[in-house]
Amino acid sequence: MARLAREAARLANTSKFAEQVRQAAEAGRHVDVSKFAEQARQAAEAGRHVDQTQVVAEASRLAEQAQTAVKAANSLAELERLRVEYLGRSSQLTELRRLVRELPVEARPQVGGAANKAAQNMEGAFETRWAELTVAEREERLRSEAVDVTLPGVPYPKGSLHPSMRVVDEVVDFFVGLGYRVAEGPEVETDYLNFTALNIPPGHPARTMQDTFFLDEGLVLRTQTSPIQIRTMLSQEPPVYIVSPGKTYRRDSDPTHTPMFHQIEGLAVDRGITLAHLKGTLAAMARHVFGEDVKVRLRPSYFQFTEPSVELDVSCFVCGGADPKCKVCKGAGWLEMLGAGMVDPTVLSEVGYDPEEFTGFAFGMGPDRMAMVKYGISDLRLFFEGDLRFLRQF
Ligand SMILES: [Zn+2]
Repeated sequence: MARLAREAARLANTSKFAEQVRQAAEAGRHVDVSKFAEQARQAAEAGRHVDQTQVVAEASRLAEQAQTAVKAANSLAELERLRVEYLGRSSQLTELRRLVRELPVEARPQVGGAANKAAQNMEGAFETRWAELTVAEREERLRSEAVDVTLPGVPYPKGSLHPSMRVVDEVVDFFVGLGYRVAEGPEVETDYLNFTALNIPPGHPARTMQDTFFLDEGLVLRTQTSPIQIRTMLSQEPPVYIVSPGKTYRRDSDPTHTPMFHQIEGLAVDRGITLAHLKGTLAAMARHVFGEDVKVRLRPSYFQFTEPSVELDVSCFVCGGADPKCKVCKGAGWLEMLGAGMVDPTVLSEVGYDPEEFTGFAFGMGPDRMAMVKYGISDLRLFFEGDLRFLRQF
């Protein structure tokens, strides 16, 4: 009687569970396998066996459910969540597999096989969907990050050359065209290269003409670009043909002087160089910068490192000397342009050149002053105040 009663209870339990499964499936819910497992454990304790057909049916139902869910998954994150739910350590399938142990020995291969097959089906579905979603997500990313190279770019405001730099370029271009080399040097110089080597020894009154910024240890901010000439001659044998633009510094500040200003110097040392070469070269340079019609004239002058020394004037390129009220030349007809001269033999000896064999000329000009004249600007300070309203006019 007891055995019959237990059998009746088992049948009742399993059919009750089958009904629960059916209802759950209709409602679209997951079957509560753990409840089923608990029932199975209780059945085993009572010496009964779990209904194997039900385990097989539940396994294949889980596999189907998983496949449907996997196909509907729209992102890799969602897919990973489903994988944990259907194949993870606490998934219903894992629970079912544990139940296999509760089955009669002869039934275990069939049920175990069914559970494994369900797991394989699920894994296959996951792999397929994983591949699909990976491709889709990559394509979506490529689409969203795509750059349309045919779109117009962002225009940057166009700058222009500073008026001083325009003159520097014109002068340098001219001399490079004659075969001169551009030479540059440091803005912090030794007292020796800035003065002494240029025939201005300590105590020479000419030093007071150049209001110098003195630094420590015998260094100065160069008051002229002339030390580049000395550096060049010390580093090479003649012939020398260089043009050297750069910044120079003096303690000066008024409408026609700024503490920093530009200079361009030139030096030609070779056999047989004369004052005629100097005049011809600078006249050609003046025509290049100010126009074909300008004339030049030389006036005697004095510099420590040239002998003889001259100043070069350029005929007024605005009025040609014909207008007594000309604003550029103020009626003089001539514009002071630069200082020049034949290199003093003392300077050549100082750098180890033989003044009996070599002669040369040197010249220095202020591109800032030249730009003031060329563009009709009355205040040099405008050049260095950085006011865009001024600079945009060039
Ligand atoms: Zn004039």
